[in-house]
Amino acid sequence: MQRITILGATGSIGVSTLDVLARHPERYSVYALSAQTRVEELAAQCVQFRPARAVVGSAAGAAQLTALLRAAGVATEVDYGEAALCAIASAPEVDTVMAAIVGAAGLAPTLAAARGGKKVLLANKEALVMSGQLFIDAAREAGAVLLPIDSEHNAIFQCMPQFGGKVPAVREQGAGVAKILLTASGGPFLTRDVETLDAVTPDQACKHPTWSMGRKISVDSATMMNKGLEVIEAHWLFGAPAEQIEVVIHPQSVIHSMVSYVDGSVLAQLGNPDMRTPIAHALAYPERIASGVAQLDLTQIATLQFERPDFKRFPCLALAFDALRAGGTAPALLNAANEVAVQAFLDLKIGFRQIDRVIAHVMDALPHGAAHSIEAVMAQDAAARAAADTHIAGLSR
Ligand code: NDP
Ligand code: MG
Repeated sequence: MQRITILGATGSIGVSTLDVLARHPERYSVYALSAQTRVEELAAQCVQFRPARAVVGSAAGAAQLTALLRAAGVATEVDYGEAALCAIASAPEVDTVMAAIVGAAGLAPTLAAARGGKKVLLANKEALVMSGQLFIDAAREAGAVLLPIDSEHNAIFQCMPQFGGKVPAVREQGAGVAKILLTASGGPFLTRDVETLDAVTPDQACKHPTWSMGRKISVDSATMMNKGLEVIEAHWLFGAPAEQIEVVIHPQSVIHSMVSYVDGSVLAQLGNPDMRTPIAHALAYPERIASGVAQLDLTQIATLQFERPDFKRFPCLALAFDALRAGGTAPALLNAANEVAVQAFLDLKIGFRQIDRVIAHVMDALPHGAAHSIEAVMAQDAAARAAADTHIAGLSR
């Protein structure tokens, strides 16, 4: 029986994870669940899965959850805040942690899971983008097993059977990898006239053609910052330099990524675009379990298309490659500026095409330094948020 904590249980990944767990009650039990604001959803999950502990974002949320659970006769222990998140991520009762909080808020609890030597199912790519080598070192020192949930990285992992569950893979194992081919759908604005992008609404940006996801990552997919963050994520997970990672637009999202080997072989992982596949893969690894995802019907799909990304249409992709090459705290800067800019876009404070400009402004305005500690990374994150806020306030005045 694997005992599991889900950080971010009320989100898109959290709900998909619970869907897979519910199919295999003989293999998995839920130790703890967390949410930030959606207390009623979390209460319903606690009624169904009966975790020992639940954590929310505020004291008021904790009081509300406690009342809901008492009324339902559920004995889950309730807490709130970051220290409580770190506690449910590293508790001795836990075997596996699904890290599915969105953004930098997930760094501390995800790191706590890694330091606790857990099996870490990593969806929260922002945590790894920010902390890079520090995170990888913490995982290795504590003997944590990192399994990628992001569909592309899970695909790459599956296309590297020599990976053996160890991070990072390529550099250390000299695995004969020529290139990592990271596929991207191109999002909702792949073919739209760039000049009309100023007018797009948050709902249009969040209407992804192939995946159903939370709003932040959906906007990231529309700007392709998501792919940029994934390039950095692939760098850390697989130990591959920027030059070894190539982004390929593949609008059908059937091939989730590929690995090209020096002998000319290209391995790909295919499937319907549904996150329950990588979630089930990582949960059961190295075994296979049913996920509820329909089998792929290739004759129905019939055509698979590929094209090169246009860096002018998607400047965020170029900014992410720049941050990866710059190293140090530059990816943390990029990530924080992006989080602020995306939130400002969702709050109707800036237009869609201002997202990349805000990030570029912050990257130019602030120096980045060495990422020698998590404190240095968090200081860079805070400085970038302040700079982005100030810049946005000036724009909207
Ligand atoms: P959602 O927005 O759907 O869910 C986010 C979860 O995190 C919710 O449970 C939310 O709680 C919680 N949360 C939000 N802010 C905080 C905070 N400050 N502190 C603690 N918890 C918080 O996001 P997704 O599920 O789409 O994405 C989660 C992560 O997985 C992201 O890093 C994303 O990049 C990654 N990912 C997602 C994919 C997808 O298909 N959705 C695919 C690949 C990666 P509440 O809702 O209660 O406020
Ligand atoms: Mg992805």
